[in-house]
Amino acid sequence: MAYDPNNIFAKILRGEAPCFKVYEDEMTLSFMDVMPQAEGHTLVIPKFPAENLFDLDPDFVAAQAKTTKIVAAAVKRAFDAPGIMIAQLNGPAAGQTVFHFHTHIIPRSAGIDLALHARKLADFDLLKKHAERIKAELAD
Ligand code: AMP
Repeated sequence: MAYDPNNIFAKILRGEAPCFKVYEDEMTLSFMDVMPQAEGHTLVIPKFPAENLFDLDPDFVAAQAKTTKIVAAAVKRAFDAPGIMIAQLNGPAAGQTVFHFHTHIIPRSAGIDLALHARKLADFDLLKKHAERIKAELAD
């Protein structure tokens, strides 16, 4: 499948769609997942076209991992999360629904099940507050 430049994350990167941004650097952008599976569910994406892991320039992988680690640490502190799940889906058969590479950062607590994947839109005021909490931790 060829990369679709009109996927929602490409639109976010071009400023054509909004996002609740928490972090960015030269190569990556991180923002809140609008249909979170847990409070604090955050995404990290490359700032260039790549549909999935197999489409990624190997030289870029370290930049993605670095941002994922920085943001995951801030999410962990912001939500006082005992655990953090990092997930990354490749292809519809694996459950991928947005075809621009991304890493999920999802806070986990023992005994609390995840909400269903990409199912229920969160309250935008709440997402904004969650983004502020994460940004405050990133600023420390
Ligand atoms: P995946 O199924 O791994 O491709 O994950 C795509 C994720 O993107 C899902 O968790 C969706 O909830 C999330 N998502 C879809 N549209 C948006 C959007 N406009 N802003 C932020 N997250 C989104």
